[in-house]
Amino acid sequence: MAYLPEALTELIHRLSRLPGIGPRAAERLALALIERDPTEVSALALALTDAVARVGHCPQCGCLSQDGADCRVCADATRERGLICVVESPLDSVALEKGGGFHGLYHVLGGAISPLAGVLPEDLSIAALLERVAGGEVRELILATNASPEGEATALYIRQELDELRERRLARGAEAITLRVTRLARGLPSGSQLDYADAATLQSALDNRTEL
Ligand SMILES: [Zn+2]
Repeated sequence: MAYLPEALTELIHRLSRLPGIGPRAAERLALALIERDPTEVSALALALTDAVARVGHCPQCGCLSQDGADCRVCADATRERGLICVVESPLDSVALEKGGGFHGLYHVLGGAISPLAGVLPEDLSIAALLERVAGGEVRELILATNASPEGEATALYIRQELDELRERRLARGAEAITLRVTRLARGLPSGSQLDYADAATLQSALDNRTEL
């Protein structure tokens, strides 16, 4: 690309590092951008830096939120506080929200247990999840981790941790927790990622969830 102006080469290089954009697409995108109205491109650049600076994770559930505030789901008083859907990533909650059939809250784990990839239980927000359950308000946990070996292992690990939490409370003489633990139904293609499933498939997996 020695024949192109340096600034353009830099732009192509930056774009090509984004997910889903190869070198050819980056080139086409960069060329289209420099042909556009400069004010429109400035607005795009501003939206980009603004979103990166302001969007983070909800302090309650880990979903995407703005300026450090609670996310829209947690802030919505009409949502069922006793029902929590446990997902691997914020994108999974976005996929479930698109279906519109879920009225509870979320808990984002931040991944799945994978010893091969060096992801251990303590790297995920499992302790925070147990704390939410120990609060006593939660009636059902839907373990909606992916239908992959890592997702299954993570769901089972959480199941065991919940059993231990229950036993510890009983041993202490604390009030017992009545908690239903379910797993999404196997309508989802095996090994698939939640955020790639279509809304109808996700909804049926949610409706037909099974006890874990
Ligand atoms: Zn939230």
